[in-house]
Amino acid sequence: MNDLVYERVQSYLARLNLSRIADHLDLLAEEAGKGQWTYLEFLDRLLETELSARYAREVAMKTKLAHFPFVKTLDEFDFAFQPSINERQIRELATVRFVANSENVLLLGPPGVGKTHLAIALGVAAIAQSISVYFLTVADLLDMLHRDAQDDRLGQRLHTLAKPKLLILDEMGYFPLDRMAAQFLFQLVSRRYLKGSIILTSNKSYGDWGDIFADQVLAAAILDRLLHHSTTVNIRGHSYRLRDKRKAGVFSELPAPQKEQ
Ligand code: ADP
Ligand code: MG
Repeated sequence: MNDLVYERVQSYLARLNLSRIADHLDLLAEEAGKGQWTYLEFLDRLLETELSARYAREVAMKTKLAHFPFVKTLDEFDFAFQPSINERQIRELATVRFVANSENVLLLGPPGVGKTHLAIALGVAAIAQSISVYFLTVADLLDMLHRDAQDDRLGQRLHTLAKPKLLILDEMGYFPLDRMAAQFLFQLVSRRYLKGSIILTSNKSYGDWGDIFADQVLAAAILDRLLHHSTTVNIRGHSYRLRDKRKAGVFSELPAPQKEQ
């Protein structure tokens, strides 16, 4: 490549926003020469370089926008520790077809069994497929709503939370929801119904949802919409957080049944 052509190519790449190709042009041109790549192979490598960099940038940006409290993947989940979980069902959910179908996922179980981990892992899988995700704890949602109500911004918040294709609502059930919060949640779930997905985690089974909501009718209406197109994963098992303490015998195990002599 003579200097003039090289300069022109770099300026075209800049104008076309092909910065990754610009960065790698020298190296790839050299490799192409050594490897005697065809013109088509060279073009293929250039475009692949640009696209993979764009994809990595997009995933990083979407991960940042998702506001995960931590990032964990399904590969980091030890299914052997939690035998009540059907690994195949979780792997199926990780194909993220449920988001394409605007279905919901409810992860229920006691503290420490991996509900948040799994919710985030499904969020990470969704982002890998270019799906927008937003993670929010119910406690943070309540804080937000009370501030929004004072600033007369509830409508705007509803609009914002209706946008991401996948909304993760973590830790439903630790705090009771007042009437305003329940009404907001009802509107949110209705707004997203058949249009977007929700992953909801809760330490309460559906039967106990009456304790979370002051208004039973509203609780039933929210559950009705959430559950209509949904998968529920009921996790029964020990807390992963406390596994070392269990091993150390901090918790007394149930006595083993006595064998009859
Ligand atoms: P929950 O939301 O059900 O209270 P978390 O998902 O927050 O539980 O899990 C608590 C911690 O234990 C997290 O750091 C999580 O990554 C880890 N964890 C839970 N279950 C497993 C598991 N089966 N394999 C690997 N790590 C796990
Ligand atoms: Mg949790």
